[in-house]
Amino acid sequence: MSSPWKISWLVIVDNNNPTIQTQKTDAVAPSAETLPVRLVLFDIDGTLVSTGGAGVKAFAEAFEAAFGVPDATEKIKFAGRTDYSLFRELCHWNEVEFSVSNRELFFENYLGFIDNHLSANEGGPFPGVEQMLDDLAALPDAPVIGLLTGNIEAGAKRKLSTYGLWDRFAFGGFANDNEDRNLIAAAALAKGSEYLARPLEGGEIVVIGDTPKDVACGKYIGARTLGVATGGASLEELVECTPDWAVPDLTHLSISEICGC
Ligand SMILES: [Mg+2]
Repeated sequence: MSSPWKISWLVIVDNNNPTIQTQKTDAVAPSAETLPVRLVLFDIDGTLVSTGGAGVKAFAEAFEAAFGVPDATEKIKFAGRTDYSLFRELCHWNEVEFSVSNRELFFENYLGFIDNHLSANEGGPFPGVEQMLDDLAALPDAPVIGLLTGNIEAGAKRKLSTYGLWDRFAFGGFANDNEDRNLIAAAALAKGSEYLARPLEGGEIVVIGDTPKDVACGKYIGARTLGVATGGASLEELVECTPDWAVPDLTHLSISEICGC
C-alpha cells in the first residue's frame, strides 16, 4: 500500500549557510485522495522526550545485574531500535543464552534501574511537543493520539509519566507486540482500528519519529511520516528517507499542516 501523500514540506539545511530554511516542494492542499488524519502515532525517545540517557544506562546496569557482564552495551547503537531486539543483540555479543525467561529476568532488572535514573529528573520533552499534543487534542474532530515505540510498555509508561505525558496517549504499539519495529507499527494500526471500532487505512495515520527506522515503519503501514531531528538522526539523514515532512524540531510544523485542517 502506498501513501497517497507526496512530500509537502521539507526543512533543509544549506551547508554554506547555517540558517535552516523551509522549502515548499509540492502542493499542500488536500486532494480527493487525501484521507482525514484519524490517528497520530508518536515515537518516544528522541521524539517526545530525552530521558538524559536513562534507558541506555539502565540497559547496561540490568545486563550486568542479571548476567554478570559489565559494559555490555558499548558496541550497541540504540536509536530507533526496539527493546526486545536490543536484548537479543546483547545476548549475541556477550554469549548469553537468549530465552524468554532470560528476557523477563533482564527487563525486571531494567525497570528497577530505569526508575533510579528517571528519578534524577534529567531530560524532558523536546521543543514543540506539548504544544503539538495540546493542539491535536483541541481539534474539533480530534484524531486519536497514540504511541509507536520500541520501548516495552512498562518502560514507556515510566519514561512518559516522569514528564507528565503518559495520560496523553490512548494506546500504543510497544516492543511487547514484536521485536520488529515494522510489525509494532502494524500492531499499532490494528489497535487503532480496534479503538475506533473500524478498519483504519494507512493514509489516515501519521507516524512521527526521530530516526530512519521510524520513517520506514510508518511507510510499512502506508502512513504519512514526519521525521524530527531531535534525537537519533540528523535532518539530512531524515530527508534522505523521504518522509512527508522533516523538521529540526516540532515547533517547525503546525497541526494544520499535518492534518490538513
Ligand atoms: Mg526514537
